[in-house]
Order: sequence, then structure tokens, then C-alpha cells
Amino acid sequence: MSAVNETLIRDIVDEILGRIGSPSSATPAPAAASKPDCGCQHRTASPASGQFGVFQDASQACEAAAAAFVKLQRGGIAARQKVIEIVKTMAESNAAEWGRIELEETKIGRLDHKIEKLLGIKGIPGVEWLRPYGMSGDHGITLEEYTPFGVIGAITPSTHSIPTLSGNIVNMVAAGNAVVFNAHPSASRCAALAIRAYNQAIQREIGIQNLCCIIEQPTLDSFKALCASEHVRLLCVTGGPGVVKAAMQAGKRAICAGPGNPPVLVDDTACMQRAATSIIKGAAYDNNLLCIGEKEVFALDKIADQLMSEMEKNGAVRLNSAQLDRLTKAAFTFKEGHGGGCAEASVNKDFIGKDPAVLAQAAGVNIPGNTQLLFAETDGKHPFVIEEQMMPFIPVVRVKSVEEGIVEAKEAEHNYKHTAIIHSHDVEHMTAMARALDTTLFIKNGPCMAGLGAGGEGYLSFSIATPTGEGVTNPKTFARVRRCVMVDNLRIY
Ligand code: NAD
Repeated sequence: MSAVNETLIRDIVDEILGRIGSPSSATPAPAAASKPDCGCQHRTASPASGQFGVFQDASQACEAAAAAFVKLQRGGIAARQKVIEIVKTMAESNAAEWGRIELEETKIGRLDHKIEKLLGIKGIPGVEWLRPYGMSGDHGITLEEYTPFGVIGAITPSTHSIPTLSGNIVNMVAAGNAVVFNAHPSASRCAALAIRAYNQAIQREIGIQNLCCIIEQPTLDSFKALCASEHVRLLCVTGGPGVVKAAMQAGKRAICAGPGNPPVLVDDTACMQRAATSIIKGAAYDNNLLCIGEKEVFALDKIADQLMSEMEKNGAVRLNSAQLDRLTKAAFTFKEGHGGGCAEASVNKDFIGKDPAVLAQAAGVNIPGNTQLLFAETDGKHPFVIEEQMMPFIPVVRVKSVEEGIVEAKEAEHNYKHTAIIHSHDVEHMTAMARALDTTLFIKNGPCMAGLGAGGEGYLSFSIATPTGEGVTNPKTFARVRRCVMVDNLRIY
């Protein structure tokens, strides 16, 4: 008997025993059986079957997800649609509470934006995206269909834990898959809370257990076990360079939503007020935790002062060079470089995603309570330009020409091919930058989030597959295209 069938049978036995009021384990321990009835009908799942998708052990989670995948297959498109409806409705109705819980656990970002990100889940594409492609001709008809992989192993970041897992579930289940998550350890309690709630509702509504599972205490070992599981057919990782590298070495197909360091170029044809408000909106969002968020600005020398003065008028506070020095020393640690004599900077985690007031204190400056963002002039080699710093501060670098700006922007982007932004009304400048940086998202005359449907055309995802090239992930990303051919018949003319 295969492992899948064993799990399936155990689940069915569990469910039947649960309904008739027996302990959920198929082989209850005598001590449990003799306990007085506490009214819960002993329906707490055994560790082996997980508690509404929350597992201690990665291989058990993968096994349970494999059994759920088979059930989802039987439930057809209607079951997938129901799961998506549940996730979208619950993300919206719990947005305020889950946003608060995620912020309390991670201590990074802003409550208003944590809530807004969860409210955005309802816009994520579902089964409607999977339209089969038909071909018809003298030799009959052929249909190409989007079919599931099975179980997907997914890794989520600390920066948007519940939003990423919720969006992943919508896309992955739309394509018919089950999923097992290994969340970031510093955002794993809130992730498990959402998974438990989703599974409770899924089980209640369509009778499928453990469709989206999670490892309660994620570790590198549970990541390795997830990657090694025979049930996991595909990996989807959302995070920085370390996890992208690890996933690519896992020996399975991996969809990698990797790091960014998005540069912004502002030329002398741009509307300065629009450029300034867009930069502030994007870079201040969730205290600059977005991978697509503006991280450094290259401004033509002749408009740099005007741009910075517009930034000051619109909620950003400028630091002088002494204040910048103090902030830099606090926000980075410097260790001996590998040759060349320059020290290497690494970001001080205590400042990631913190409020502008925390940065201002380190810089030694008093700021108004409604300050969105801090900024200062730097050169192009400054750690705030080079490192993906994820804090509500943005460096502004003067450049003499658009060409120089494009070269510096490309260097700062590190060839991550993630996101770049230009403010310009010159189509040749736009084209030159788009071609040179070769990024997955390229936004013109708007804040970064316009690239994900917020203020620009398009749809949302919290996993933008950059090094592996799938782009803004959607249900098709998680589907196998299979072809079904009828030879010489069924064409109606
Ligand atoms: P992180 O890289 O520290 O962690 C991301 C996930 O990977 C976590 O679950 C973590 O536990 C795991 N992880 C990290 N190193 C690992 C390793 N060596 N082996 C196995 N697992 C490992 O990133 P973070 O701080 O949580 O998130 C911020 C980073 O993620 C930034 O670089 C940001 O640009 C990127 N990000 C990218 C996207 C995208 O769509 N491209 C979306 C969100 C975040």
C-alpha cells in the first residue's frame, strides 16, 4: 500500500471516528480512551495528522498534503474555487487582527500597510486564469490544459508572512496543488495561526484536511526535509539570496522570488512633484520592506535640488551629512573586506522595517510625528545605495547625465533583475533604462506598487520570480501544461 493511500485511509478513519465521538487517532491510547468526556469530542488531531495543517515534522506535513491533493483532485474546480473564496474572505475579514499579530511578532513594518496587504489578497488571480488552449485542424483537435504538480514546498519571508502564504495558496490551489510552507522563523507563529484558520474553514466547508500545511517551528533542517520529500514536486521560495541559492541546489525545479534593490532614475523632463510623492509612497510603504520598494534615487544634477525640495514638502525629512554619518554607523556593521581594503557593510537587523522615528533618533534629529521617510544626499558607493537596506530612508545620488544614471542604477541593482523605476517624459530615456537594467518590473512615473496593480494596471502577487524568470507569479506559474490530442476526428467542420 502506498504512503498516500495509508494517509488517506487514516484520515477517513479519523473523520468517521471523530463524527461518532471517538478519539481522532485510529488507534487511541488506553489512557486517552478512559478520560472523562470534556466536550471537545476528542477531535484534536494527532501529531501525525497535524492540527489543521500545522505540523512539527516536515515529512508528515508533506504526506498529509499529498493525501489532501488527491482529495482536491476529486473535488474538481468547484473545490478549488471554494478554497480560494475561503482564503480571500478570511484574509479580508481578519486583516486588522492578523496584521496586528504579524506586526507584534515580527516587529517590522507598519500596521496600516500590514492590514492593506491582507486586504489586497482578494485581487489575486484564481482559477479563471487557467483557460485551456485549443487547436483545431484537418487532423482533429488538440487541447493544452493547465494541470497541477501535486505538492508544492513553499518558503515565505519575514517581510510579509501571512500575505505571501495567502497569495501563494490562492495561486497554487487555483492550479490544483496542495502546499507545505516553511515560514521565516521570526514570522512563523502568525503564519501557523493563519494556516490553522484556513484549514479549519476548508475542512468544514469541503471536508479536505491539511490542504495547506506548515511546519510549526521552521528550521534549516525542516527546509531540507521539505526539499527532499518525495511528495514535493516543485519549490517556490520567496526571500533573499541565501534561500534562492539553497533552493537552486535542492535538485528540484524551483521558482525563486529573490532579492531586489530597486533604483529610481529622475531626469529633467519629469514632473518633480509626482516623482517626489511617488518615491515617498513607495519607499515608505511598510517602512520600505517591499522587495519592489524604491531603495535609492539617481537624480540629474540640474533637478536634484528641486526633487529634494519636493520630497521635503511632501512628508520626507532631509538629513545633513553629520546626521547621515550617525545613521550609517548605526544601521550597518562594517567588517574587513575581502581584498581591496574596503570594509564590507552589512545591514543591522535592528533597523530593518523600523519607524522613521527610530532612524531619526539614531541620526540625532527630531522629526514631526507624521514623517514618512528620511533621505540624504550620498555618493553612488554608499552602503545605503549598495545594500538592500529595507528601512524608511532613501539615499539621493546626483548624476551628470541620464547615461551615467543608468550605469549607476544598473550597478546598484546588482543584476538581480528585480525592479527599476524611472520618472521621465522622454521615451528614449525610458527605453534605454528598460533595456540596460533588464528588470522583471519596470515602472514609469509612478510608485513601485503600481507594478503590482496598486495604481497601475495589473494583478498582485507577493512572490515575484526574478532569477528564475516566471515574473509576477499567478496560477499558471504553478501548473504543468499537458496536451491531449484527438487524431482526425471531433473537428466539427
Ligand atoms: P530571508 O532570505 O532572510 O528569508 C526568507 C525565507 O528563506 C525565510 O523563510 C528563511 O527562513 C529562509 N531562508 C533564509 N536563508 C535560508 C537558507 N540558507 N536555506 C533555507 N532557507 C533559508 O529574507 P527575509 O528577510 O525574510 O525577506 C526579505 C528578502 O526577501 C529580501 O531580500 C527581499 O527582497 C526578498 N523578497 C523577495 C520577494 C519577491 O517577490 N521577489 C518578495 C518578498 C521578499
